[in-house]
Amino acid sequence: MRLNNERVMNLKTRFPLLISNQNLVYLDNASTTQKPQEVIDIIKKYYERFNANVNRGVYNLSQESTILFEKSRKITAKFINAKPEETIFTKGTTESLNFLSYTIDSIIEKGKDEIIISPLEHHSNLIPWQQLAKRNNMKLLYMPLKKDLTLDLKEAKKLFSEKTALVSISHISNTLGTIQPIEKIIKFAKKVGAYTIIDAAQSAPRKKIDVKKLDCDFLAFSGHKMMGPTGIGVLYGKEELLKKLRPFQFGGGMIDSVELKNSTWTTLPEKFEAGTPDIAGAIGLAKAVSFIQDIEVENIVEWEEKLTEMAIREMKKIPHVIIYGKNNIGIISFNVDGVHPHDVASIMNDNDIAIRGGHHCAIPLMKEMEVSGTCRISFYLYNTLFDVRKFIETLKEVVQIFKNGN
Ligand code: PMP
Repeated sequence: MRLNNERVMNLKTRFPLLISNQNLVYLDNASTTQKPQEVIDIIKKYYERFNANVNRGVYNLSQESTILFEKSRKITAKFINAKPEETIFTKGTTESLNFLSYTIDSIIEKGKDEIIISPLEHHSNLIPWQQLAKRNNMKLLYMPLKKDLTLDLKEAKKLFSEKTALVSISHISNTLGTIQPIEKIIKFAKKVGAYTIIDAAQSAPRKKIDVKKLDCDFLAFSGHKMMGPTGIGVLYGKEELLKKLRPFQFGGGMIDSVELKNSTWTTLPEKFEAGTPDIAGAIGLAKAVSFIQDIEVENIVEWEEKLTEMAIREMKKIPHVIIYGKNNIGIISFNVDGVHPHDVASIMNDNDIAIRGGHHCAIPLMKEMEVSGTCRISFYLYNTLFDVRKFIETLKEVVQIFKNGN
């Protein structure tokens, strides 16, 4: 279903929070998205009718709960064209990337001691690698940015060598909304036998993801940024790599045998899911995936492109407004020259517009941009043309207030 303003207004009625806050213009979707009634209902229904632990009981309720949980895994796996065994449920992108940073040394060959990332990364895709480098005496290298804040691929390519153990890169920058040339980076890495890790926290909600086509080794995303509940996310890994990878956490549900001095691990994906998983979360995430699939990702992309283009076009007409980055979708970072982002966000809030002001968990990028922070707006499929207009009108008022109409 192609989206237009009328259809989006209709879609919006399926989000209880947006209905009960009619005046709210919610433009902080890169942070987290609102939840449709279907997602809220299925979580409630699970606890009311099916609650029991998974993969443990022989009684009917436990089996039903297990069936629902595994069906959710299948739906989520298919969404990124992965196998269910390759789809590990985690708490979210942060946990997925930390998990990997604690275990990937078990599959890194000797002599490979360099990690490549970019200065555009969210702290979740930066600090874990910084810490891995410190723990294992590895080198952390940054792909350089060009003046327009896109990756300098020519220079980046030179960093890849036989020493490269892995490259980890976001698919879409959470700060600038830039779509990164991940296909090219994956190619650079393949040539030197390095592992490829994609932070898809911002792309899973707004871009078609096919892990087979991308041929990445690992990919992480969070449910709450795509209308699912908080506390659930995914780490995808290629089956042959996951089989070799050391588990991250140890405990119930992930063992094959346990003796006093030694233990062995069960098969995928349970090997990586120690303890009771977030069963309701997984079911909620699968419902959110189905919601996206009903609308079709391509239509979400098209609508977000339209909103982004319209917003940028209008913002460019307002004096003193600085827009950062390019090749972006759904996310726009900007400043009003000389005005603190929190002041802008605060006036927006007075007008029922929720936007973000700050460093967006990307302090190294802020340093590169030579700013302490930016304002950020981010769209999702329920944002209307009216939302963009109201934001633009309020931004004009902000400029009037701070710049005395000059
Ligand atoms: N990476 C990116 C690109 C993100 O946008 C975010 C969330 N802002 C994260 C990682 C971390 O995601 P979470 O907080 O859901 O773990």
